[in-house]
Amino acid sequence: MLLEGLEKFRKDIETCFGTSCNFCEKVCPVYQIQKRKTLTARGRNRIIIGILYDKLRPSTAMTQTVYQCTMCGACERWCALPDTAIFCNFREYLVNNGFENDFHKKNYENIIRYGNPYGDKNKYAWLQGQKSNEDSNTLFFAGCTYPLKSPDVLKLIIKLLGTDLKMMPNEPCCGSYFLRTGYKSIQMQLSEELLNYLEKENIKEIITACPGCYSTIKGSIDNSKLSSKVQVIHATERIAEKLEELTGKRNKKDKLLTKVTYHDPCHLGRLGGIFESPRKILKCCCEEVIEMEHNRYDANCCGVGGGVRASFQSLSEDIGKKRIEEARNTGADILTTACPFCELQFRSIGGMEVRNVFELLYRYVMNDE
Ligand code: SF4
Ligand code: SF4
Repeated sequence: MLLEGLEKFRKDIETCFGTSCNFCEKVCPVYQIQKRKTLTARGRNRIIIGILYDKLRPSTAMTQTVYQCTMCGACERWCALPDTAIFCNFREYLVNNGFENDFHKKNYENIIRYGNPYGDKNKYAWLQGQKSNEDSNTLFFAGCTYPLKSPDVLKLIIKLLGTDLKMMPNEPCCGSYFLRTGYKSIQMQLSEELLNYLEKENIKEIITACPGCYSTIKGSIDNSKLSSKVQVIHATERIAEKLEELTGKRNKKDKLLTKVTYHDPCHLGRLGGIFESPRKILKCCCEEVIEMEHNRYDANCCGVGGGVRASFQSLSEDIGKKRIEEARNTGADILTTACPFCELQFRSIGGMEVRNVFELLYRYVMNDE
């Protein structure tokens, strides 16, 4: 029954069963909406123990349970176990046993065919007019959501980063979607393709503005022979280093007259450890940055990740609405973030003006109120 991926976590799962401490429950955004214990990390680990002890068989009902998780990692903050890695393998186990989620299967086919889950042929259209510096050792990795959903933001990110960037004409998918929805072997093939390219082109650093690409590519590089040779950088980190150079001509009194609050994207913040560079950018260009009650490691999820938006839209929106409510409670005028997925989610739910960190900085640098 292809149990290796779960067997590898047997001790962890038995520990969960033994302690049943339930710390995971109170922070789980899915549990807070659904109020069903099977949808917490503990609930899922219980199902896995049933499989490992040959008491349960894969089923469609299991698919419903395992895919109602945004992979936000909030449970891992309170749990000693690698819960999201366990859930990735649980999803893979179900897929390998013929229990695929229809939405993810469709997105999977889109990525294979078009290089992105949206099934859009125009992933590379944004490259028109962009200059790739072929001699550079710094690769810019665009991902698919910025090019297809926010190409204008992507272009201004490039302007903020400067000209020393190499760009791939046929950039592959980073594999994040595959990794988190049960198709890990495909993510590993894509990762191999990218690692070979990095080695061949002697790339020393790779910059991306997408938190999903950032965490996936970093995970691949950290576990490869390139770990000491290639650095993975989020665009907010590089831009935060260049703030003085970028804003040198601007008067600090000319800051954007706006109060903002910042939403930490799960893959950049809690799972990527990057909290301060986006805040540094915002403090540089906005009148005031007000923190939400849950911020940094404790930030609440926007509800999009782990394929939840694709297959459980109403759950995803309910989680997103809670986060927008938290943002509104700060009294800020604008909800900002540094992730194209979170941005799209908040914009589509509505109730507050949403802006990308890069967009606000660009307005300030260009003196464009
Ligand atoms: S916090 Fe971890 S060990 Fe405790 S019940 Fe939740 S998943 Fe199990
Ligand atoms: S990763 Fe997030 S959504 Fe999934 S079980 Fe943990 S806290 Fe809940």
